[in-house]
Amino acid sequence: MSELKLPARSEDFAEWYNQVVLRADLADYAPVRGCMIVKPYGWTLWENIQAALDRRFKATGHMNAAFPLFIPQSFITKEAKHIEGFAPELAVVTHGGGERLEEPLIVRPTSETIIGHAYAKWVQSYRDLPILINLWNSVVRWEMRTKLFLRTLEFWWQEGHTAHATLEEAEAETRQMLDVYTDFAVNEAAIPVVPGRKSESERFAGANITYSIEAMTGDTRALQAGTSHNLGQNFAKSFEIRYLDRNNELQYCWTTSWGLSTRFIGAIIMVHGDDQGLILPPRLAPYQVVIVPIFKNDAEKGPVMEAVSRVRGQLGDIRVKVDEREETPGFKFNDWEMRGVPLRLEIGPKDVAKGTVALARRDRPGKEGRSFVPQDQIQRLAAETLASIHTSLYERALAFRKANTHDPRSYDEFRQAVEGGWAFSWWCGDGACETQIKEETKATTRNIPLEQPGGSGRCIHCGKPATEKAIFAKAY
Ligand SMILES: [Zn+2]
Repeated sequence: MSELKLPARSEDFAEWYNQVVLRADLADYAPVRGCMIVKPYGWTLWENIQAALDRRFKATGHMNAAFPLFIPQSFITKEAKHIEGFAPELAVVTHGGGERLEEPLIVRPTSETIIGHAYAKWVQSYRDLPILINLWNSVVRWEMRTKLFLRTLEFWWQEGHTAHATLEEAEAETRQMLDVYTDFAVNEAAIPVVPGRKSESERFAGANITYSIEAMTGDTRALQAGTSHNLGQNFAKSFEIRYLDRNNELQYCWTTSWGLSTRFIGAIIMVHGDDQGLILPPRLAPYQVVIVPIFKNDAEKGPVMEAVSRVRGQLGDIRVKVDEREETPGFKFNDWEMRGVPLRLEIGPKDVAKGTVALARRDRPGKEGRSFVPQDQIQRLAAETLASIHTSLYERALAFRKANTHDPRSYDEFRQAVEGGWAFSWWCGDGACETQIKEETKATTRNIPLEQPGGSGRCIHCGKPATEKAIFAKAY
């Protein structure tokens, strides 16, 4: 698989991406157009993402539950904006058990409606609140233009759904989960993200406020990597989620939802990868270390494998793969570079004699990233190097984002800026202005970052007074 050269990332980013997904053995195309088969290597990466998020969800008081795949069609139509947003993307089941169904069923595109139905039954009094539930599942949205991991008909994700007694609590939850996503992206995936609020046109269908984290991809576009929605009382009113307050008065609940999906794998590939292929952030990588034994004959093999086994034993909790395939070392080096393993150890007869091991960092290809270290210190050095790779991946991505984020002084400069990066510009907040910008430049508002410079300015497009700056970019 790996002998053929990848298209250069800088020349054909789209094709580079597709090839990396397939050749790194993450996923494959499915017989149904737009669907995806996630292969074991890709799924293990997803499992590591799940574990890192699940820990954080539980630490913030949430529990997991499971809800049905099918939703009665009538549910979807109850929240007006929700149906308006999702209608074109719905998969509808009309037959079951060989018969036409009385009421068609929707394959869930997201679960707010069926959650609303359940919470209406579960919540009676203020004592029943808050409800803090998360679901790990897959959902279906009938997308026309698909791309592995980034946009597929069916994708895997988590969806959190909470109900609260007050607007303030619901807003605090929405922001807390945005913080959880930011912390996860930075500290597990080494991806610098910008947390911010979506414009009205980019909001989730049925939300009062949507927040997102946005990452800059290697081709300087924007990729939404997670969202958190304050749903106000919209779903509570559509589904009658009500509670008796302390004064025995009936009140509507305030609800939230928040999600992060297998799309995040696309973000990892697009942010960190290089011309050799994938580069995985060490804390999420299925294998953090690969050991490649090097020998020419059986006489060399014995002592080399003995050293390999000793070194492996010292690595403790680190996730290690020993590559014992009957291929050349060169083939194995290329293959594991393609698959993005953060750290490679090589052990040959000379290392056996000297008590050393060659250590090669994936983030620094060639001689620069290769060093010889004593075998008896491998545990400490491997752990330190993995930590250092995490930091350097993060810093590299942050420097890249800063270098490609512009502060244009005129609309002409703005138009140029969004051709090769992000523009961080004053914006009036008006939807019509936003639509014109999109039509003229193909750039959309990605979000209005929480971190603002303060002060005020003039809208980069229409010149009206503006109090906030937004990120404009072409997006995936
Ligand atoms: Zn404007």
